[in-house]
Amino acid sequence: MSNLSTKSTGTSSSRARGRVFGVPKRCWCGEAVVALISKSDPNPYRRYYRCSFAATNKLRNDEHTFKWVDEALLNEVDALISRNAGLEQQLKELRTERLEFDTMVYEKMEKEVLEKVEDGLGEAKSWNKKMMSVILLVCMVMIGLSKVVG
Ligand SMILES: [Zn+2]
Repeated sequence: MSNLSTKSTGTSSSRARGRVFGVPKRCWCGEAVVALISKSDPNPYRRYYRCSFAATNKLRNDEHTFKWVDEALLNEVDALISRNAGLEQQLKELRTERLEFDTMVYEKMEKEVLEKVEDGLGEAKSWNKKMMSVILLVCMVMIGLSKVVG
């Protein structure tokens, strides 16, 4: 069941003992990696990942996967932290871009509205001045609202 794969026979390049980053999922030999608890004197009750083949055959000084759980988890945490920092930076950049975009759009809108109002004022000499000031007021309120909402 476990010897289906016959590739990488005798090649040492596929051996990556101890150099796995983070939590090992599978040993290079194809066996699953299991979590065990150390009973050795220098590391009592310290948890470690081990190739299940090497564990069941009680191999020693072999090339199969061995990694302390705490070290593997520290790797994962480090990876998470650096990934998180990258995300935060991206988010910051996105926010700045968004802010610049909003400001640009708002300024353009305000300019256009003001131009229209000025045009209207120029043409509306015959109009009721009261009417125009109401329109102007509505425009101002709309601009103010868009500022608050946006
Ligand atoms: Zn193995």
